[in-house]
Amino acid sequence: MGTGWLKKRLELEKLMGVDALFRKPGVSAELRKLEDEVRNCTRCRLHEGRTQGVVACGSPQAALMFIGEAPGRDEDAQGIPFVGRAGKLLDQMILAMGLQREEVYITNIIKSRPPNNREPRTDEVEACFPYLERQIELIQPQIICTLGRPATNALLGINRSMGESRGKWHFTRGIAVLPTYHPAYLLRSPGQKSKAWQDLRKLIVALAEGPPQAPGLF
Ligand code: SF4
Repeated sequence: MGTGWLKKRLELEKLMGVDALFRKPGVSAELRKLEDEVRNCTRCRLHEGRTQGVVACGSPQAALMFIGEAPGRDEDAQGIPFVGRAGKLLDQMILAMGLQREEVYITNIIKSRPPNNREPRTDEVEACFPYLERQIELIQPQIICTLGRPATNALLGINRSMGESRGKWHFTRGIAVLPTYHPAYLLRSPGQKSKAWQDLRKLIVALAEGPPQAPGLF
C-alpha cells in the first residue's frame, strides 16, 4: 500500500502546468492576506514577545494537513513551522509516508510563540483559532493529522488525553482527523514511536484509499 497515486497525480499536474492558482482560484491570494493579518496581529498577549508570526508551510493543494501546537524558538526565529529538532522528526515521519514536506500543509493552532514554550492558554487559543479555521476552509484537506494534545483538543473541541484520542478517527467540519503524538514528545519518549508509526500507517491507507466517512454521511 503506498502513495504512488498521489505522486503520479502531482507529477502529471506539474507536467500539465496545473498549479494551485488554477485548482483553487484565489487561494494563494487569500493565504497571503492571512499571512499579512497574522504578521500584524495583536489579538492576544503573545504578540508582545514574538519575533514574528508563524503561519504555515507546504502546499495549498495538500490532501493532508498537519496541525501542531505553537511555534518554538527556531520557528519564531525563522518564521517557518516545525524547523527545529521536532521539525526534523516530522520531516522523517512525512518521508516515511512516501511524501515530501512540500506536498503536505503544516501549521499550528497558535501562530505566535508562547514564552518559554509554555502551553497556549485557553484565551490565546480562542483568539487565534479563526486563523486556523480560515486555513482549513482555504486548503480543504481530505485528512487532518493533529500533533499532540493541545492541537487535538482545540481542533475537536474536546478535553481528552492523548491516550484516549490518538490513533482513532475523529471528524470535524466533515473532515477526517487522526490525532497522533507531537514529534517533540516522541523525542522525549522514543518508546512511543511505534505507536506513532501505527498512526502514520493509517494515514497512508486513508490517503491511498480515501479517508473514512463521518458517521451518518452517505
Ligand atoms: S497567537 Fe494568534 S491571536 Fe495571538 S497575537 Fe499571535 S496571531 Fe494573534
